[in-house]
Amino acid sequence: MNWLLSVALALACASCMAPTSGPEAESRPNIIVMLTDDQGWQDTSEPFAAERTPLNERYRTPEIERLADEGMKFTNAYSNAVCTPTRVELMTGLNQARTRVSNWTHFRGEPTDRPHPDLVIPKWNMNGLQPLRGIPLSVHAQTLPQQLQSAGYRTIHIGKGHFGTRDTPGEDPSAFGFDVRIGGRFSGAPGSYYGTDNFASDGDPAATPWRAWDMEKYFGQEIYLTEALTIEAVAAVRQAVADGKPFFLYFAHFAPHTPIQPDPRFVQRYLDAGLPKGEAAYASMIEGVDKSLGDIMDLLEDLGIDQGTAVFFTSDNGGLSLPSRRAGVPHTHNAPLNSGKGSTYEGGLRVPLVVKWPGVTAPGSVKSTPVTIEDFFPTILEIAGVEFGGQNGALNNHEGVVELGSELDGRSFVPLLRGEAGEPDRPLFWHFPHKWGGLRGPGPTGPGIGATSAVRRGDWKLVYWHIDGRKELFNLAEDIGEKHNLANDQPQVTADLSSLLGGFLREVDAVMPTRVATGELVPYPDEI
Ligand code: CA
Repeated sequence: MNWLLSVALALACASCMAPTSGPEAESRPNIIVMLTDDQGWQDTSEPFAAERTPLNERYRTPEIERLADEGMKFTNAYSNAVCTPTRVELMTGLNQARTRVSNWTHFRGEPTDRPHPDLVIPKWNMNGLQPLRGIPLSVHAQTLPQQLQSAGYRTIHIGKGHFGTRDTPGEDPSAFGFDVRIGGRFSGAPGSYYGTDNFASDGDPAATPWRAWDMEKYFGQEIYLTEALTIEAVAAVRQAVADGKPFFLYFAHFAPHTPIQPDPRFVQRYLDAGLPKGEAAYASMIEGVDKSLGDIMDLLEDLGIDQGTAVFFTSDNGGLSLPSRRAGVPHTHNAPLNSGKGSTYEGGLRVPLVVKWPGVTAPGSVKSTPVTIEDFFPTILEIAGVEFGGQNGALNNHEGVVELGSELDGRSFVPLLRGEAGEPDRPLFWHFPHKWGGLRGPGPTGPGIGATSAVRRGDWKLVYWHIDGRKELFNLAEDIGEKHNLANDQPQVTADLSSLLGGFLREVDAVMPTRVATGELVPYPDEI
C-alpha cells in the first residue's frame, strides 16, 4: 500500500503528544494557507505551463509572481473537481474516496448531484465534515487546525468554510479547531461581493442563505468582500503577534467563484483591454485576491515575521469553463488543459501552487513532482513540528458507523520544499461518482456528464468513465491537453493503472454508481 502513510499509534490523539505552550511553541513557524475558489491553472500572470499562454497575458497577478520569485512553484499541483472535497482533504489528509465527501455540500441531507440520465448516484457523505460522530452521512476526523491549536497555535479562519451542511455542527468552521472565525459557514459562495448589498441583497431571498457570516460591520459600505476579508485577516494576524502566539492563518477567499461581480478597484483595466464584461469582471476578481496576497506578504514584512512564516497559495479546483447563467460566457478556459471545474480531466483538477518557506524553499525554484491537496495536512504538521497520532474519527455512512483507522492518504512534501527529488511515481487518485454540471455541459467529454475516477502515476493518467466503463489513457508529458487516448496503444499501462486505481478504490471501500439500464453496480476499473 505504497500510497498510504501508515502511522503507528492508531488511537493516540495528537493533543496528547504535542506541546501546548512554552518556548518550543513560541519558536514554531507561522503558517499561512491562502486558498482561492475556482481559480484555474492558467488564471494568473505567473506561468504554470511550460510556456506562457494567452491567459497568462490576460490576467495580472504580480503578487503571485512575487511569491514564486521568493519561493517554490509547483507545476503539477492538484486539487479536486469541486469545492468541498478539496476543503475536507486539506483539513483531514484523507482522500475523497475514503471520506465519501466527494461532491459539494449545501443543505442538510440534500444531495447536490444533478440527475444523471444513465446512472443512479451512490449514497455519499453529503453532510460533509463534522466535529461529532453522530451526524448521518458525514465524516468525523481529526482536523489540521485542531492539531495546530493543540500545539499552541492561534488558528484563524478567514473566508469561505464549506465543510459541512447547513443546520449541522459542521456548518461552523469554529467547530473544527479555529480560534478565530470570520466569514465562513456552510455556503459555497457569497450572496454578493458588495458591502452595499450587505453581501447578499435582502431583496433576494434566494441569496440570503449564502451571505457570509461575521461581516456586519461592513454592511452598507462600498467595500468588496475580498478587501473586507483581508482587513480582517490583517487584524487577526496582528493580534496573534501581539499576543506572542505562532499562528495558522487559513484564508479561503470566496473569489473568483460566482457570482461574477466586478471588483471595482481593478475592473476598468480589463474593460480597457477589450475583454467582454463577464471576463473583465472575472479578471478583476483574480486581481483582487492577488492584491490580498500582497497585502498579507507586506504585513509579514512590516511585522518582521516574514522569515518565520511559511506561505502557501493555491486554488480549490480548476477554472469554471461552463458559461454562467448570469454572464453567458465561460469566464476562463484552462487552455491548454481539457475541460474545467467538475471534471477529472486536468482542467478540473490542476491548480496553481506556490510555497514560500524562508530558509527552506530556494527562491525562484520550480518543482514538477506531482502533489495534491490532501498532502497539505502532513506537510503543514511537519513544518509546525507536530507529530500526528493518527486519525481516530469515523464515517457515518448509509450503512452505519465505520471507524477510519490510522491511515492518511496525504504525504508530506517537505522533502520537495527542501529541494529533494521526492517520489515522482507516487500515484494520485480522484473519485467523482457524480454529475456536477449539466445545465450547459458540452457533451460526453465535458464536466456536464461527470461520473469518473482517475489516477495519475508519473506521466501517465487514466480516466475511468462510470457510464460505460470506458478507459482513457493519456501521457501528460506529451499531451497535457488529454486529446490522444492511448488506452488501445498501451494495453499494459492501461491494465497497470486500472489495477492501481481499482486497488485503491477497493481499499477505501469507495462507493460506485448503479447503471440504470441493468440495475448493476459499476465495477471497479480492474474488474472489466
Ligand atoms: Ca471551488
